[in-house]
Amino acid sequence: MDKISLKNLSKEDRQCFFQSKYEYYRKFNLRMVTVATLAYLSFFITDCSILGHFAFETLLSRVIVIIPFIIYLILNKKVNDYRVMVPATFLMIHIIIWCTDWATYLLPDRQFAIPGMIIMNLIFVCAGFSAPFSYSTFAHAFLMVDIAIADIFIQYENVEMMYLFNLPCVLAVCAMHHMMQGVYLEHYLAKDRLQKLVVHDQLTGVYNRNILKEINDVSTGKLTFNPDLQVSMLLIDIDFFKKVNDELGHEAGDQVIKSIAKNLQGHVRASDYVIRWGGEEFLIIMPGCASEQAVRIAEKLREKIEQSDNGICKTTVSVGTAMYDGGNYHETIKKADEAMYRAKHNGRNQVVSYEMHLQA
Ligand code: GH3
Ligand code: MG
Ligand code: MG
Repeated sequence: MDKISLKNLSKEDRQCFFQSKYEYYRKFNLRMVTVATLAYLSFFITDCSILGHFAFETLLSRVIVIIPFIIYLILNKKVNDYRVMVPATFLMIHIIIWCTDWATYLLPDRQFAIPGMIIMNLIFVCAGFSAPFSYSTFAHAFLMVDIAIADIFIQYENVEMMYLFNLPCVLAVCAMHHMMQGVYLEHYLAKDRLQKLVVHDQLTGVYNRNILKEINDVSTGKLTFNPDLQVSMLLIDIDFFKKVNDELGHEAGDQVIKSIAKNLQGHVRASDYVIRWGGEEFLIIMPGCASEQAVRIAEKLREKIEQSDNGICKTTVSVGTAMYDGGNYHETIKKADEAMYRAKHNGRNQVVSYEMHLQA
């Protein structure tokens, strides 16, 4: 088995992986930012205790964090793209750090800086779950820049200790995120394999009926393609297939079914759905294909199958075509089925269009 690595994935697959990782931890991420903001606000009580009175001095530096937090909440509601939300999350964390620096600058006692950093490192641990490793590494390493800038204003008594304490923390957290990303990748690939198994037919490798759940609205049965697209369906049934099974055996029958599936898949567009509809029946859903074009494609497929050598026996198919009318897709399959039975009745090995031959 190939070593599991992100480098083996294409750019698009990598983006799907990061998006999936973000969505998996999305709720956790939001709760983490909320808790971090509330914790930051609650430190106002600590300010009061350090100053020995209601801390008017640090009030603004504490409550101001509510503004970016509200913007973050709105963004979180409207945007689901990890490329926006992950940087927004880290920006929110850095804003909390900058506000902490501001509050610290206003306080007389700065001995709590290192305990504060432990909390910030913990927040970086949590934020890294939903983030690509490169994003979390960059955002966490930026903590060193935050310390350097804060030191200009605050002038920590022990800034070396701040670096010496944080550097191993950043390295350890980054190493942990790298491992966690590997763990999520294994989970993601296993889920992907399972999802593929669920919607694919084991014998032929083309889709099975489960794929329809992904392309229709289950409550209305309407297909979820762009409504401006014309959609055609082909229902294809092998002619006299029982004879193949009876005379040559079930295994030979399976070979014929496999060969026909391969033929169909090989002669349609990548955007078309070839589905094993029943034992020796196939349904092809073709988005962006009008009625006359569907008949031409059906005729081409019929010819290819008639001419092809499947190594078992000469095989032909009967095809019914129908146009999807925007309603429940079952109605279109019924029409294609009617057309297919007309093709059988007319002598098999032919194409019948519902719209051209059966519509009153
Ligand atoms: P027609 O031209 O009218 O379609 O005649 P037919 O003999 O093909 O009739 P029908 O379409 O009803 O045939 C279905 C047969 O397909 C019955 C069943 O034994 C066979 N079949 C269904 N699934 C499989 C399968 O997975 N493997 C094999 N080998 N045969 C199957
Ligand atoms: Mg049949
Ligand atoms: Mg048949």
